Amino acid sequence: MRVAVLAVQGAFLEHERILRQLGADCVELRKGSDLQGGFDGLILPGGESTVQGKLLRELHMFGELKEMIGAGLPVMGTCAGLILLAGRLSNDANTYFGTLPVTVQRNAYGRQLGSFSASSCILGLSEEGREFPLEFIRAPYISEIHDREQAAPIAVLDRMPDGSYGENVVGVRCQNQIGLAFHPELTEDYRCHEMFLRMCSAKSMS
Ligand code: GLN
Repeated sequence: MRVAVLAVQGAFLEHERILRQLGADCVELRKGSDLQGGFDGLILPGGESTVQGKLLRELHMFGELKEMIGAGLPVMGTCAGLILLAGRLSNDANTYFGTLPVTVQRNAYGRQLGSFSASSCILGLSEEGREFPLEFIRAPYISEIHDREQAAPIAVLDRMPDGSYGENVVGVRCQNQIGLAFHPELTEDYRCHEMFLRMCSAKSMS
């Protein structure tokens, strides 16, 4: 299994460490020619979405990756990666790949809550009742799902960091795309990456 990791900025090494531990090979994407080798899935890491979006274009990767995602390449975007996938941003005029039919709010928890930890179940992964540790860093959330037939929430934060209750969607899956507002690569719980690798192997066998 070969998984490409966008490696222009942000927390890509953390994803690679987990993918390798789970037995996958990693290809770092830094320029257009890196897309030629072939891969079974794509990780878009956390970082700064505006910087990543700009570099994706400048380094000649944007159009081809957008096409690959549209054609069914399994992709998992975490935090800034979710922002790159979103069809619409509620507080930013930019969009990037726009392949995931959701609206995402950037920096959704305010300045004073730059980083916080929480936990939640993840649909399809928490059957044994073990919640996931969720790490948020200047995180977005998913404020709207445009296409409920295709896209389904897989993680909901039911308590806000200030203790109040809420219903913020922080993870969504739409066919070949997973978007997470949190950082599974910063924890020792590998179930999100395992889910993603299962998607990649299902795709490479089909
Ligand atoms: N706040 C960043 C953005 O809007 C995302 C933060 C992250 O990836 N941890 O791009």
